[in-house]
Amino acid sequence: MLLEHGIYTAALAVIVAMLYERYTKNDPIIVAGVVWLAMFIPDTDYIVRVSLQYAYPHKFPVIQHGDFHNIFVLTLVTIIGGYLVYRKYGKAKITLLAASTCIFLGFLSHLVEDAFVYKEAYPFLAPFTSKVWDTGFLVATNDIVIKGIPIGSSHVYIVGIMLLSAAIMIRVRVQGFEWLEYYNIIPALVNPVKSMVIQVAHNTGLINVFAVAGIVQSNEESDKP
Ligand SMILES: [Zn+2]
Repeated sequence: MLLEHGIYTAALAVIVAMLYERYTKNDPIIVAGVVWLAMFIPDTDYIVRVSLQYAYPHKFPVIQHGDFHNIFVLTLVTIIGGYLVYRKYGKAKITLLAASTCIFLGFLSHLVEDAFVYKEAYPFLAPFTSKVWDTGFLVATNDIVIKGIPIGSSHVYIVGIMLLSAAIMIRVRVQGFEWLEYYNIIPALVNPVKSMVIQVAHNTGLINVFAVAGIVQSNEESDKP
């Protein structure tokens, strides 16, 4: 589920960073990064549980996976995490309110995603009520298994990729392509493809057609990958 969280919350981070960039002076790269990284926090209950079990092997596990999936931990992490992020970057980059809001949104997105995907999710309103919340909307099937390790459900990935694509398209529509350069995503994806196409064009002689059509500038320049 962690990879799926990564995709869904990336979609949220793209939109949140766009809004912050448009309407505030906060650094959109930090905003997006904080929203995205806060998404990991709820599942650290698993790491804490395993560490405690390792340290005290004969004690009953005090923490279960799911124990950080509630509004109590959400509130705590929003306050403490927001303050730590603010202290790290300072007011010029991100305000205390923005830092806390980004932590809150990233963390909350994880809970919402879990509720969407698990038939039995977690008691999100603990400690007030132990009622387990879920929607069963996109029930996880864990049909993708690589070397015996389940890495998620194909339909959950498909919906996530659609949401992320939609978020990117909305932001490109509003802001143009420049913001993508912050993340170096496009060059990393496009450059290998571009050099491959140019290589094939060279080998097949198509490069001359490209040059005539103005797609590549000249043979010398397009030689460089
Ligand atoms: Zn979770």
